[in-house]
Amino acid sequence: MKTQILNVNFSLQRIVRNSFTFVGLYHISTIQMKFGTKVIHAGIKPDPSTGAIMTPIYQTSTYVQAAPGEHKGYEYARTQNPTREVLEKNLAALENGVDAICFGSGLAAMDSVLKLLNPGDEVIATDDLYGGSYRIMTKVFGKYGIKFQFAGISNMETLDALITSKTRMIWIETPTNPMLNIIDIKAVCEHVKGKNILVCVDNTFASPYLQNPLDLGADIVVHSATKYLGGHSDVIHGAVITKTHELADQLHFLQNAVGAIPGPQDCFLVLRGIKTLHIRVERACHNAAVIADYLLDHKKISKVYYPGHTTHPGHEIAKTQMRMFGGMLSFDLVGNSETNARKILSGTHYFSLAESLGGVESLIGHPASMTHGSIPREERMKVGLTDSLIRLSVGIEDVEDLIEDLEQALAKV
Ligand SMILES: *Cc1c(COP(=O)(O)O)cnc(C)c1O
Repeated sequence: MKTQILNVNFSLQRIVRNSFTFVGLYHISTIQMKFGTKVIHAGIKPDPSTGAIMTPIYQTSTYVQAAPGEHKGYEYARTQNPTREVLEKNLAALENGVDAICFGSGLAAMDSVLKLLNPGDEVIATDDLYGGSYRIMTKVFGKYGIKFQFAGISNMETLDALITSKTRMIWIETPTNPMLNIIDIKAVCEHVKGKNILVCVDNTFASPYLQNPLDLGADIVVHSATKYLGGHSDVIHGAVITKTHELADQLHFLQNAVGAIPGPQDCFLVLRGIKTLHIRVERACHNAAVIADYLLDHKKISKVYYPGHTTHPGHEIAKTQMRMFGGMLSFDLVGNSETNARKILSGTHYFSLAESLGGVESLIGHPASMTHGSIPREERMKVGLTDSLIRLSVGIEDVEDLIEDLEQALAKV
């Protein structure tokens, strides 16, 4: 069945989720901002020294002190940077968290979150993960005595079978990459409540415009801001948003102690990208819905993985926890021929063959050899990630042109 995107009534949910009580954080207090206002205004105010409306890039490594220990709250730029702080406040507001901590990349953000753990601790993660996330878990933290288990945790019995007295963290990606599975964030959070287990959600695929995991009970949200937040394929950046001040303090400590900070110019670029987040994501979602329906009807295509289709097993959950169904989709070819997949991957014009996602331009990718190359083939096949699977990050171009592009590429096989 086709996409229900236009019939779904998100409006009530939208009102509830968008309201953010802005209490005493900045110069304005107790204002209820909706999402499109938050992206422009939350945590952002004209530069106090000049009135510059855009947050300046504070390209400095240190700050002059009037006397030893007498300073304006800034000592050294690994520890504090005004451009970064504005971005952190803005991100905290977008995810309805208390604080945010920015990093030099999504994986650097994840690295600090995993450093909240101790040797002997166990982590349960969704089994269809971004390749780099799988790699940092198994190849880096595995070595320090942290145990990772990967499973499809939509099913609570599966989850129960994996939880032990040592389980300290659940790592969720939803929608998953590249199979677009949906995990019920609220169900997982309620299920582990009171068990001293942190629920972390990598919200990169959805972006804060579509999904706010902290509202659903999660403790920590992680973003690769390289993707939708930055949105223009011109920066590598990561962020963590927390539900509590205690977690934020631990992560600020780690950020300063390990030094994985972003540069001020990169923070500026992310801040600039965020200003149009809602408009970009909405357009990408609409384009993706049209493309998903087109692919579903195509005789050379065997499967379309897209949560907006009513036949998608996660559709109902996606409808309740996401505002729209996202700009990402994957599809597989009749006959599962890798040779045919490669012809399509090299045959598009507007869809550029590249890693990454979430930019204004459409991208096409081959997860088996690109983003998920670091996952062993047997592991990949188990979740349906075949050698002929193709992933699209749908951009904000005119959708008629995107479909024409796919049509001519598919005609080559
Ligand atoms: C890209 C990505 C990451 C890693 O982020 P970087 O900014 O490349 O370090 C993590 N999770 C997901 C879902 C991603 O798409």
